[in-house]
Amino acid sequence: MNVAPRKLDLSGWDDRYEELQRNGLREPAYGGPLRRHVVRGKDYRLEQLQFDNSPAALRLWNFLLTENERLHRARAGGEKIVGTMKDLGTVPVMAYSLPGLRAFYPDGAWWTPCLMECSDRLLQQAEAMGVDASFCPVRAMLPAFENGEHFPKPDLLVCSTGAVCDDFSAIAQRLEHLGHAILWWEIPRRRPPAAAEPVCDLPGNLAAPKIQVDCVQSELQRVGEALGGLAGETLDDDLLANGIRIANQVRRRLGALRKSVYAAPAAPLPALEMLVAEMLAIHFCSDRAETIVVLDALLAEAQARIRLGRFSVNAQAVRTYWVNPVADLRAMNLLEELGGRICGSDFMFSHALDLIPENLPPLEALARSALADPMAGPTADRGARIVRECQASRAEVVVVSRIPGASHCAREGEIIRAMVRLRLGIPAIELEIPPVCDALLPALGSRLQALFETARARRTK
Ligand code: SF4
Repeated sequence: MNVAPRKLDLSGWDDRYEELQRNGLREPAYGGPLRRHVVRGKDYRLEQLQFDNSPAALRLWNFLLTENERLHRARAGGEKIVGTMKDLGTVPVMAYSLPGLRAFYPDGAWWTPCLMECSDRLLQQAEAMGVDASFCPVRAMLPAFENGEHFPKPDLLVCSTGAVCDDFSAIAQRLEHLGHAILWWEIPRRRPPAAAEPVCDLPGNLAAPKIQVDCVQSELQRVGEALGGLAGETLDDDLLANGIRIANQVRRRLGALRKSVYAAPAAPLPALEMLVAEMLAIHFCSDRAETIVVLDALLAEAQARIRLGRFSVNAQAVRTYWVNPVADLRAMNLLEELGGRICGSDFMFSHALDLIPENLPPLEALARSALADPMAGPTADRGARIVRECQASRAEVVVVSRIPGASHCAREGEIIRAMVRLRLGIPAIELEIPPVCDALLPALGSRLQALFETARARRTK
C-alpha cells in the first residue's frame, strides 16, 4: 500500500492499471484491466461506478466479474456444478466439503440487469415468461436459466422451501415447470420455543425449538446424500466438519474486515467494495480458496490504511447502518458522495457471517446456522440485531433499502424503522432502489441529503 486511497472511475482505472503493471503488479489468472468487463462482458454499469484504487479492490472486482467464466471452466474441467437457491450460505458449505463440486447461486442473476444496464433484457424476458415487475429482480434468474448465456446449467439444482418468500417460491416453481428438476428441502419458519419445550441456541443470539433444528437437520441430510451421489463420495461428518472449518475461515476474515472498516474513525475502504466483499460469504464466488486470498488482501489494505491514517471517506461522514442489498450498485457510491459512510450492514444474510458452531455434530451445527437466517424468522428478530449493531457501531442513521417488488416482508422497513426510532431515537428512512436507479438519483439524493443534514444537526445538540 503506497498510494493514498482514492475513488477512480473506469477511465481512471485504465491509467491506474497501466501504472500498476509498470510497477510489477502480479495478478491471478482471472486478473486484467476492469475495462474488459465492459468491452467483452457488456457490464456497462461499471462506467457509472467509482472504484477504490487499491490492487486489493482490483482483485476483488476481477474475482466477482469472472464468476461465470470460472463456472464454465470448472464444468469443462470435469467438475460438477450445483445450483443452490434461496438459502444464502448453507448448502454451499456442504457442496464445497466434497471434491469436484462447485456451488453457486443462480439468484445472483438479480444483479445482471444492473451490471449490464438492462442490455441483457433479462427483466423483459422474465415478463414474457409471465413473471413481471410485481416480482423482485431475482426474476432475472428465470430467463438466465433458459437462455444459458450467463451461468452453466447446473448438474444439480437445490432450493429451500417453507420459510421462503412468495417471489422466490413462485419463480422456482415456474423453473421446475419449465423442466429444470429441483431438489427441494424444507426450512420451517423459526418460532420462539414454547414453555418447557427443548431449545437449541442458534448463532446470532437466537434460539429455536429443538424440533425445528431436528427437522432442518434431516432435510439437510437428504441434500447431503444427493450431493454425495453427485460427487461420488459420501458426505460424512469428517468431510463436513472440515468444510465448516474452512467456511469459518472465510467468516472470520469477513468479521475482521467488517470490524476494521466499520469501526475505524473514518472508512478505510468504500461502501461499494465492502458490499461486494460481504457477498463472498454466501458461496465464496465459486472459489473458496481464492475467496480467502481476496479477503486477506482487502484486510491488509484496510489495516495498512488505518495505520497510516489514510481513508477513503473522511471522519466527518455520517455513520450509516445500511439494511438490504441494493439492486443498483451505484447507490453505494451515492451514499458516500452525499456525505455518508457505512458503519454497519445487514444485507439479508447475517447468518452467513456468523461462525458455524464447531463443537457440535456438523450437520446439526449447519442446521442451527440455517435456522438463524434473518429471512426465516420474524422481522422483529432481525430488527433486534440491527438495533444491537447500530448501538455497537454508534450509527447516526439507518437506511432501509427496499427492493422493488420484493414480497419477503411488505412491512419489513416499517418494523425495522419503528424499532430503531423507539430504542435508539436516531433517524431511519426507507428508500426503493431499482436495478438501474439513474432516473431516481435526484430523488434518492434529496432524501439522503436531508437524512445526513438531520444527523449533522443532531451532533451539535
Ligand atoms: S422477495 Fe426478498 S427474499 Fe425473496 S427473492 Fe426477492 S429480495 Fe430475496
